[in-house]
Amino acid sequence: MNSNLSVAFIGLGQMGFPMAMSLLRANIEVHVYDLAAAENIKSAKNAGAIHEDSLEKLASSAMFIITMLPSGEVLRDILFGEPNLKSFIRPGSILLDMSTSNPKHTQSTHAELASLNISMMDAPVMGGVAFAKDASLDFLVGGDKGLIEKCRPIFDAIGRSVTHCGPIGSGHALKALTNYVNAAAMMTAVEAISIGRAFGMDEDVMSKSLTETCTGRNHPIVKKVIPKILTRSYDSGMAIGLLEKDLKIAADIALQTHSEHPLLDESLEILSEMVQSIGASKDQTEIAKYWRK
Ligand code: NAD
Repeated sequence: MNSNLSVAFIGLGQMGFPMAMSLLRANIEVHVYDLAAAENIKSAKNAGAIHEDSLEKLASSAMFIITMLPSGEVLRDILFGEPNLKSFIRPGSILLDMSTSNPKHTQSTHAELASLNISMMDAPVMGGVAFAKDASLDFLVGGDKGLIEKCRPIFDAIGRSVTHCGPIGSGHALKALTNYVNAAAMMTAVEAISIGRAFGMDEDVMSKSLTETCTGRNHPIVKKVIPKILTRSYDSGMAIGLLEKDLKIAADIALQTHSEHPLLDESLEILSEMVQSIGASKDQTEIAKYWRK
């Protein structure tokens, strides 16, 4: 057992349980607490965790507290409700909220804890249960950068990378924005494939084509957003009018095949508005100016 390091872990659900198991595998002492999750608590105990049945006992067990809860509101209830964790946490402790929380809750919780000499960082994780099980999560961390090194053995035990995103709440903000990009990409892909399927195309052919020409070799973030938009060079080599034409064709196919295409309609509306405003011959990457109006 790594005698220098003891962690109090709250929230032993789908993600929290495998994360706590990773800490145990790294020989870190782990004290667990959850209102439910009886099966996971039992398994964690079998693997060497210590189960605490009160917030008071939990808080006095460790200087590092990890939370993996449904939301920042639940964390606030645990910290400031009745009974509350806040009164039992030892000054000098560090709380790592690894849940996906709203940064506004994180900022207010951080301020309230700071007045009690308790540090807090937001450290949400990218990657789901599979990555939690093999300890390869990516941490997006907000708060005092200097605290990262103090928590390094914890991050190393659970994940494969730590990115410092900025002041407190930045990790939670970037996590939500990244999930927005992921969700939008997932929905546009599903919409495109269902239109293609209605047109009569094979799913395997579409999957291979999308992987090779869109996501894998030619992802818009890597090929356009970073090198052409964020550098303000706007020189991808394709006119925005041509992209508008392509989306119009896609919308036409969706109409002909009676396919649902709400995202396509919305994207086309934005694209057409930009073509009207800046002209069809401008580079497609100038679409980014829509968000800087
Ligand atoms: P989950 O519902 O499986 O686990 C949450 C745990 O918190 C449960 O065991 C629950 O009993 C416990 N809990 C709730 N209220 C409590 C309280 N007041 N006191 C003590 N314990 C309490 O959820 P999950 O899938 O493990 O997700 C946890 C967090 O991680 C969420 O914020 C989620 O958005 C985020 N996340 C989930 C995934 C995923 O793939 N599931 C991936 C990345 C991030």
